Formats: sequence, C-alpha cells, structure tokens
Amino acid sequence: MSILPNSLGTFNYRSVWKILPVTTKLFTPTPDGPTLCVLCQKQQETFEHLFLQCAAVIPIWTYISDIIKRITGAQLKPTSELCIQFNFPQQVAQHTDLLVLLYTMTRHTIWKARNAVRFDGHTLNPGGIRKMLNKALKYRIANEKRKNTSPYQETLNKLSDTMD
Ligand SMILES: [Zn+2]
Repeated sequence: MSILPNSLGTFNYRSVWKILPVTTKLFTPTPDGPTLCVLCQKQQETFEHLFLQCAAVIPIWTYISDIIKRITGAQLKPTSELCIQFNFPQQVAQHTDLLVLLYTMTRHTIWKARNAVRFDGHTLNPGGIRKMLNKALKYRIANEKRKNTSPYQETLNKLSDTMD
C-alpha cells in the first residue's frame, strides 16, 4: 500500500530514472530555442533546473519546506537526493509517507504547470503553482479520507491543518 495513487508512482519512476521528456533531452540546447525553460525563459530546461532550481519554482519549495518544518521540526533543503531519490535522513524517517507525498505532488504540479505553459499557451501568474498544488493536495486528502481503513489519516490530518 502506498500513499500515492498509481499514476504518481509511475511519475516517480520516470523522475528517478530521469526519463521525463524535459526539452534538453529532446533537442540540442540553444540560447533561444525550444530548450529554454518556459517558466523563467532564462535557463535551459534540464531536469534539475525545472524541478528544483528554476526561479519560478523556488517559492513553491519554500512553501512546502515550511509545511515540512512545521510538521516534522526538520529544516530540509529541497535537493535531488531528498525530493527525487527519497533518501531521507534518520531524523525524519517516521515521516517518510508525508515526505514522499509532498515531494511527489510538488514535482508533479511543477510538471503539470510546465506542460500547461508549454503546450496550452497558459501564462504562469504569481502564486499559480501554489494554488494548483493546494488544490491537488486537498483532492488527494479528501480521497484518502473517504477510505476508513487508510493508514494515513493522522498524517493527512496534520497536513490539512498546516496548509493554507
Ligand atoms: Zn526556469
């Protein structure tokens, strides 16, 4: 049993093995071509850039890191090691489910936002990714709460109380 729905398990598999089609994997990088990150328009869209380093995604990691700090007491920097590989330090081992959920859904929301901008011509307004993430998390929490036997109720209640 996993705190993640199957689709997000697949997304994680594709993330860990870096087989998501970021544009620098598809095209030779050029300064003004399709390999430019659509969220910031400044850097090349590499895996690490899009998911962790882009100026447009830093605020959402700050928001999520703050939630994690309030629940676990740990100040964790969003690194590839933590957010993608899920190598968690011992001090937060008991919160593994929560961290897996938050890190996965944050990356998945970034991916959805990126696709909406790249393929559907959406513009990213300030706070847009955060709204998308809150909505996705609330939907996930509500879904899990409908299952009376879910082992994640306590974790998700804490999360509900901490989100805005
Ligand atoms: Zn960027």
